[in-house]
Amino acid sequence: MNDRRRVIKGTSISAGIALGQARVVIPGEVEIVEVTIAASRVKDEIAALDRAIARTVEELRALRVSAGKKIGGPVAKIFDAQFLIAEDQEFIKTVRDQIAAQRRNAAFVYHRLVQHTTAPLKQSQDVYMQRMVVDIEAVTEKVLSHLAGHDRSELTLAANTILIGKMFTPNDIVSYRERRAIGFLVSEGGPDSHMALIARSLLVPAVLAENVWQTIPNDCPIIVDGTAGEIIVHPTEKDWSEYQKRKKRLGPAIVTRIKQLTRIPPVTADGMEITVAANLTLPGPADDILAGQKIPVGLYRTEFLYMAHRGFPDEDVQFQYFDRIAARFADTTVVFRTFDLGYDKSISDRNWPQEDNPALGWRGIRAMLELDGYFKTQLRAILRASTRRNVKILLPMVTEVSEVERARKLIAQIKFALTRERVPFDPNIEVGIMVEVPAAAMIAETLATRVDFMSIGTNDLAQYALAADRANRKVAHLYNPYHPSVLQLISMTVTACKKHRRPVSICGEMAGDMLALPLFIGMDVDVLSMSPARIFDLCRAVKKIDSSVVRHLVGVVLSSGSVKEVLTTLEDFKRASEKRKP
Ligand code: PEP
Ligand code: MG
Repeated sequence: MNDRRRVIKGTSISAGIALGQARVVIPGEVEIVEVTIAASRVKDEIAALDRAIARTVEELRALRVSAGKKIGGPVAKIFDAQFLIAEDQEFIKTVRDQIAAQRRNAAFVYHRLVQHTTAPLKQSQDVYMQRMVVDIEAVTEKVLSHLAGHDRSELTLAANTILIGKMFTPNDIVSYRERRAIGFLVSEGGPDSHMALIARSLLVPAVLAENVWQTIPNDCPIIVDGTAGEIIVHPTEKDWSEYQKRKKRLGPAIVTRIKQLTRIPPVTADGMEITVAANLTLPGPADDILAGQKIPVGLYRTEFLYMAHRGFPDEDVQFQYFDRIAARFADTTVVFRTFDLGYDKSISDRNWPQEDNPALGWRGIRAMLELDGYFKTQLRAILRASTRRNVKILLPMVTEVSEVERARKLIAQIKFALTRERVPFDPNIEVGIMVEVPAAAMIAETLATRVDFMSIGTNDLAQYALAADRANRKVAHLYNPYHPSVLQLISMTVTACKKHRRPVSICGEMAGDMLALPLFIGMDVDVLSMSPARIFDLCRAVKKIDSSVVRHLVGVVLSSGSVKEVLTTLEDFKRASEKRKP
């Protein structure tokens, strides 16, 4: 096992240890995987091909219409050649026949046949032939992109598979995890990306390391230490048994620690009580224990239900899902955030446009207010699940007062309809907003008068304040929620909430960071909501803080001019408070 043992140092994305076999998903323009299919699946595969071609033709038609409007008829004719290629019946028949004869997935067969066809054309000096290759490739890319989601969801995994890719979307993590992948290695993304958050919430180990998908061979044995951010390729027998032992020790640790929480209520040294809550995404292994400890859910990211379901579930499916969660947490409260779809959280769905700049695009409440049929369905389902009076609604990506007003109007209409239908719900359900765009923080005073509570999403607030994509490694050095500008925006929001007596919480990853804890206590934040794995350590740290001392710290930090200055002040404070007895 040990001839080519290699240790790769990376960055921890999600803690935990996984021992298994590597499975590399090769990225291209579109990722193509070769999948052997059962005879019974041939029909489905051909149907997927037909759907992909139909969608491509539909897209080309729309492109021709818009190009015709913008540039004029002659240019729009460019698309005619692509139509002919996309609808070439002889070629499509060959693909269908080979899917059946070779029992391979449609994307793989389509891609191979296109390569076969274009190879001689690529050698030609003829301008017409070269133009033809460009058109064929444009069509192929479209067809394959429609087939890609289909393939990824069909890929069957052997036991103990550790998936390696250039990057995975949150949707990929959910879908591979359902097929029991035990770990993930990626080369792109950040520790605060949604991909990382979903891996953490599902307690599946993940590491970020340069070019892993190019340097680790398929099928080799590997160990992923998500806690240390390390990967061992071709481990020795000794590594294997050592990590198996570590995994056993670590496995139940999170769960055991949460069970002990009643013994360490989060109260500061001078008696100030802090509410610590959990961020949840999908039903996970720690839910019952959290509920048993009466830990509230400060943020339930409902969009992962949409991803797991691969589309918008109907009202009853959503109601049953939300009602089960509300019942499980009956002794405390659950904040359901309405679908925050868009940016990196979407599936190949015709409701979702391809955008050049999705982080600044159709995301969260912007999309849901337009897709108001789907929004109404979700709000009805949440309202129906609110009969225990323990449910709240949270609206993501708010930038304007009008968005809150429109959402509240919709909620009022739904309440009216439910009353007429004699369907029970909580008439006093609280409606809050996420503050994750600087614009919202800057008008927090006005927004506070329109909502029942606010929750500060520091992950996005940092991304938008610093103009640094949280999932882009190239700008990871700029993405830092400890930037004084982000702290100023947090402080403005908290001050506005205090003035208008609205509870305010922090629900970004920073909420669970020990370094930020004295700052949030000093600002008088009401609730800190974080990944379940962080709750235990945070509760312990609260005990060491004196709330009167940290008020002074806030002033010092807010007047800092750089991330470095902020971090130095907070690290000095942490060192000093660790010396104090609990
Ligand atoms: C945030 O932006 O801080 C947040 C909690 O929301 P998400 O991470 O889901 O975007
Ligand atoms: Mg966010």
